[in-house]
Amino acid sequence: MRKDDCIFCKIAAGEIPSATVYEDERFRVILDLGPAQKGHMLILPKDHFADVTEIDSVTAVHVLPLAARLGAAAKKGLGCDGFNLVQNNGPAAGQTVMHFHMHVIPRWDGGPEIVAWTPGEQTAEEREETAAAIREAL
Ligand code: 5GP
Ligand code: ZN
Repeated sequence: MRKDDCIFCKIAAGEIPSATVYEDERFRVILDLGPAQKGHMLILPKDHFADVTEIDSVTAVHVLPLAARLGAAAKKGLGCDGFNLVQNNGPAAGQTVMHFHMHVIPRWDGGPEIVAWTPGEQTAEEREETAAAIREAL
């Protein structure tokens, strides 16, 4: 199912041109317009899902092997040394387009930091309280 006012639905359907790296019946993989690094790709399902909590099991089963294949192809084709898989859910997490997508970002040794955080601190009690809150919501 697609959503009429969704730009990634339009791109995935080929209605808006994009630099396409790969396409099959379920996905279109395009180059990001504002790449974090050369070869930054976006895996777009052709069906509309707002985020990872909505994707169906068939999409879920296929997206990770496709990401791995694209990362391996970036290593071979672009000579990158590694790659990040990044997948944002919700504006608080940096999601700006509300159509599920997975970023595949090629990385070169010595290149800029892209996915980084400052390690925080928690007491054992705080950790246990946090774990319990998530566990009980599962
Ligand atoms: P998010 O922040 O939602 O995880 O990622 C959205 C990504 O989509 C951003 O990296 C942004 O550069 C990219 N993007 C937004 N609009 C377009 C577009 O029209 N075409 C392409 N190729 N990329 C887009
Ligand atoms: Zn969409």
